[in-house]
Amino acid sequence: MNIILLGAPGAGKGTLASKIVDEYKLPHISTGDIFRENIKNQTPIGVVAKSYIDKGQLVPDEVTCQIVEERLTREDCKNGYMLDGFPRTNAQAEALDKITNVELVINIDVDFSLLMGRLCGRRVCKDCGESYHITRLNGATTCSRCGGELYQRKDDNPETVQSRLDVYNAQTAPLIEYYTKQGKIFNVNGSTTPEDVFEKVAEKLNALRK
Ligand code: ADP
Ligand code: ZN
Repeated sequence: MNIILLGAPGAGKGTLASKIVDEYKLPHISTGDIFRENIKNQTPIGVVAKSYIDKGQLVPDEVTCQIVEERLTREDCKNGYMLDGFPRTNAQAEALDKITNVELVINIDVDFSLLMGRLCGRRVCKDCGESYHITRLNGATTCSRCGGELYQRKDDNPETVQSRLDVYNAQTAPLIEYYTKQGKIFNVNGSTTPEDVFEKVAEKLNALRK
């Protein structure tokens, strides 16, 4: 299965992706995670990516497409993949169509008024990447999955979030139309709970797998 996750920042792409890859044994390819790993290791890509990510802007297409193209040629993607956070622009979607056959695009649709609160209250595990919200943590400071320390992402502050949401509206939302025309969109309501979102998606994926 070749799957893409589409949705605004805070829609719950990462949370859904981690459930999908556990259940369907697909490699999880998150461009955001790849960039954060590069930033941590201070690679040349990390240095470039950081200057955009800190401002809530997109990393240029040339850099992003090259990373994804390289990643998709690896052995573990032979039987499918789960792309999370890519494509985010028309040019990225077109580049992807040239190298692979996308089967399903899961669009997580969330009430926009929820996103600022979700992102500014998000805490992430530094070891496994799991996301939490402060309202569900009850003061816990470590990950319930692996015990790792939780931190707040540098781009999860009100100013940067606003610019990420603006960028989403201008550059990424048009991809819903792009994939609708290809007949590949599956819309799911992301304003409910993570469990509920996964259940709806699993029904769809089980039907696809048969
Ligand atoms: P979110 O979906 O919550 O914004 P991500 O971890 O997916 O978080 O992305 C974090 C940042 O990494 C983005 O704001 C952007 O700067 C950069 N990024 C991630 N994926 C892409 C992409 N496909 N194209 C350009 N920039 C990207
Ligand atoms: Zn963890």
